[in-house]
Amino acid sequence: MNLKVNEIFYSIQGESVHAGLPCVFVRLTGCNLRCSYCDTEYAFDEGTAMTVPQILEKIQYFDCSLVEITGGEPLVQQGTSVLVEDLLQARYRVLMETNGSLDIDRVNRRCSRIMDIKCPSSGEHAKNDLDNLKRLTANDQVKFVIGDHDDFLFARQMASLLPEFLCPDRVLFSAVSGRLSPERLARWILDGRIKARLQVQLHKVIWPDRDRGV
Ligand code: SF4
Repeated sequence: MNLKVNEIFYSIQGESVHAGLPCVFVRLTGCNLRCSYCDTEYAFDEGTAMTVPQILEKIQYFDCSLVEITGGEPLVQQGTSVLVEDLLQARYRVLMETNGSLDIDRVNRRCSRIMDIKCPSSGEHAKNDLDNLKRLTANDQVKFVIGDHDDFLFARQMASLLPEFLCPDRVLFSAVSGRLSPERLARWILDGRIKARLQVQLHKVIWPDRDRGV
């Protein structure tokens, strides 16, 4: 089984409840959405075909038990579920970032799915697969990328529909870089008594001038 891989790199986990931990990232090629703020457009088409064993060998080199599969959108590739399965078998802790528009149960539930619910300013919120709300487990995480106050109101409404076992630890509110300051988002979260975790993109704080490999 081949997958098209954009990059594999070792960095600090910048998002999710695992922020701050060293992690191996497997960035897969291809995405079915076109968000207005996308910062990984280079992953839409660029990539190299690799087999699952080749990917595993490359991951092994970094001697790190935490692996995140990201994109693009990992679920557009058939082989992603096989990769997740093999990583779990090899006893890695596996995270997968997904844009929330496709069925998250295509991968094993032992993988922590970090699922976006797209807000209006992304231009793609009509594509949210709301059936995914029923598929979430206590192992998953839900992320809202918020660009303005309308997005915040939307996120607040959607967050109120999430299962209680995720709140507040595994509900992530993140500001769109360059559009909304984390300070303003923090104020809205506190004033609104929102049961969510403010997420700052740690890799952008550490490496503000790098947009690949971090
Ligand atoms: S889902 Fe992610 S990779 Fe795809 S367009 Fe949106 S931000 Fe970019």
